[in-house]
Amino acid sequence: MTDERKEKLRENFARVRAEIAARRPEAILLAATKTVPTEEINYAIDHLGLTHIGENRVPELLEKYESIHKYTPDGKPVQIHFIGHLQTNKVKYIIDKVDVIQSLDRLSLAEEIQRQAEKHQRTVDVFVEVNIGREEAKSGVDPAEVGAFLDQLTAFSRIRVRGMMTMAPKCASFEEYSKYFAEMRQIFIDNSEKNVHNRLEACLSMGMSDSYAAALSAGSDMIRVGSTLFGARIYPEGPK
Ligand SMILES: *Cc1c(COP(=O)(O)O)cnc(C)c1O
Repeated sequence: MTDERKEKLRENFARVRAEIAARRPEAILLAATKTVPTEEINYAIDHLGLTHIGENRVPELLEKYESIHKYTPDGKPVQIHFIGHLQTNKVKYIIDKVDVIQSLDRLSLAEEIQRQAEKHQRTVDVFVEVNIGREEAKSGVDPAEVGAFLDQLTAFSRIRVRGMMTMAPKCASFEEYSKYFAEMRQIFIDNSEKNVHNRLEACLSMGMSDSYAAALSAGSDMIRVGSTLFGARIYPEGPK
């Protein structure tokens, strides 16, 4: 990595952190690291205080996993979250590698997570993904179904619901994003009351590069930021 690149990352992280400090100091910054080389991820872990990373593709996560630093300089474990759409047949590859699966959005996926968790004799922390924009093409549970889905999940002994995740639709303004995030926050609060394990620790994951300021102001506990930290993504095989 060039000194110029390091300086750029330092600036980008500082900019996002300033926004967190101003709007919601307790929120966690998760770096969305798809397409980001491990060298840059490790630089951020070693020098920029990064503690949480999110990957969205199973093959990419597996490729990078061994070389991603597992601890911060002061000895805290780095958390790896899976944030992308997860195919049921791929659960087995990541079950022992991720701290949280943020994209639990259907019963069949819960069944497979339970099955793999039993095999590995462990409990898996998940967030329920909510499709707050009710968009046809997007994954996530319909907002009206969240309560019922959480009820169904209580049957899975090895799945611990630790929070909720959402991706807002593409909006043109802070105000427009704020409406979606406020609604999501309300769903989170309403359902945490009864169904989310250990609700004091429950986490609401919302806000990306173009929306994290609005998400923080609406009460996000974790923002997932990619391109604002690392620059525009270059996909080797073309855009998704
Ligand atoms: C890529 C990604 C992000 C971050 O997107 P940016 O717009 O680059 O900040 C956040 N969440 C999920 C689920 C993603 O796939």
